[in-house]
Amino acid sequence: MRYIEPHAHMVSRTTADYQAIAQVGCEALCEPAFWAGYDRASPQGFYDYYRQLTESEPARAAKFGIKHFCWLCINPKEAEDPVFAREVMALIPEFIKKPTVLGIGEIGLNKNTKNELTIFEEHLEIAKQYDQAILIHTPHLEDKLKGTRLILDALSNANVDRNRVIIDHVEEHTAPLVLDQGYWAGMTLYPESKCSPARAIDILETFGMENIWMNSACDWGISDPLAVIKCALEMKKRQHSAETVEKVIFDNPKKFLSQCPNFSL
Ligand SMILES: [Zn+2]
Repeated sequence: MRYIEPHAHMVSRTTADYQAIAQVGCEALCEPAFWAGYDRASPQGFYDYYRQLTESEPARAAKFGIKHFCWLCINPKEAEDPVFAREVMALIPEFIKKPTVLGIGEIGLNKNTKNELTIFEEHLEIAKQYDQAILIHTPHLEDKLKGTRLILDALSNANVDRNRVIIDHVEEHTAPLVLDQGYWAGMTLYPESKCSPARAIDILETFGMENIWMNSACDWGISDPLAVIKCALEMKKRQHSAETVEKVIFDNPKKFLSQCPNFSL
């Protein structure tokens, strides 16, 4: 099965992971800028991270025939200090010109603080200024519903093109909010928290197969780079047709990502 992994943090993964996903049909992979498992001590740390995202990882992925793309931002977890966050955001214009950058992401909220929201809104302005698509991280567990509502309000105020915004890590209670307002939704398949394959397929069966994608969001923690393909196999077990499975794991991400000028297969 061919598929696109629309959200993975490969800087935290081994080359064997690239090999494994290539073997099961991964054709392209997108890496949003995020927390690297530790707080960076200076904006220079982000400069090097952006170089890794735009130079090293595309080259590493290419060895396995996978196209690697990335999104740029300072993640909400490290955005609590607005002065620091703005110094990092000032690096974005230099990197946004790179040929594999898709847009601004994954921005969003972590603990739903005022500072996080301010920096989120400033990222939306950067996205508008440079005409970029947007990928959004929603908080976990009990913060998710409130955070999603804050994010939807901020997006509405910023008046962005809703077709070019994907709100990730949706669950049963947030997917309809996102989809009903005309945004795209992403589901993250995690072994421990977030969606299991069964939950993800329930969500698809409840809310439909339009404007939604699945990702592994594999990173430094307990996560599975093969999660998307494992979920696709679960869909087949539930008697979904090959066309439906391909729509969710390949056609849908391709449709959203094709709105980014740098995306191609
Ligand atoms: Zn992520």
